[in-house]
Amino acid sequence: MPSAVRWGSSFLVEIAGEWLMFDCGPAATYKMYAAGFKATDVDHLFFTHHHSDHDADYPCFLLTRFDMSIGKEKDLNVYGPTLTEQLTERVLGEDVGAFWHDIVARTSHPLSLSAYQSRGGVLPRKAPKINARDVGPGTVATGKHWEITAARVDHVQPYLDSLAYRIDSDEGSIVFSGDTRPCQNLTDLAKDADLLVMECIRLHEDSVGTASASTETDTYGAGQTARESGAKRVLLNHQSIDLIDPVKKTQAIGEVRQFYGGPLIWADELMEVPWT
Ligand SMILES: [Zn+2]
Repeated sequence: MPSAVRWGSSFLVEIAGEWLMFDCGPAATYKMYAAGFKATDVDHLFFTHHHSDHDADYPCFLLTRFDMSIGKEKDLNVYGPTLTEQLTERVLGEDVGAFWHDIVARTSHPLSLSAYQSRGGVLPRKAPKINARDVGPGTVATGKHWEITAARVDHVQPYLDSLAYRIDSDEGSIVFSGDTRPCQNLTDLAKDADLLVMECIRLHEDSVGTASASTETDTYGAGQTARESGAKRVLLNHQSIDLIDPVKKTQAIGEVRQFYGGPLIWADELMEVPWT
């Protein structure tokens, strides 16, 4: 839920000078700049699923990355479950994209062309090329210093498919749970990870007996998944808005602690977390 201190999911990961982005929730592009990074820094974007709290800023990110480019950047690679290709086409596809008019205007009008040249661009200014791909379980992408593996997790199927991702890299390993109920696929994917970025949506007592219990991970599930996977550290994220309350936050961390004794981090907006 939107609030003044917490809104939407998005992560940037640095690996040997490369920046990988995971999800692009509301205001992700603004928060990226607030944290000191640029849309043109990112060449790879991974979606866990296509709920709007994970993808609503995608048009803003694509348009900002295009508008700030000088034509020398790499093409953007986008990976995600079913709907990733369709969404991309509907945002920026030639003639059919909801924002295609912006691409036409900025690659045609002298105002935009002179701004492009003043940033160092050389004419003609081209439309952005986005390599969007629907992906499933298994190896999704590899770089010089990293490999990304996906696993299917259980959230709101059959309406939306959901993936968790694992990064294995020179720096270490990170797993993003995405949104999911506790499930074996996630526990297996997160095995011995250096960092598990784990959904922790609400207190256990607020989850039991609700639809949330079969689609999302509460404090008990987060602690159990962390323990069973053997993750070396856990970053709790995707907390519901009521957990902003300090008393409830303390209770939530205590509930996770009943199951997991390792280092535990409570995610806040714009937080930076070191690899080790
Ligand atoms: Zn979500």
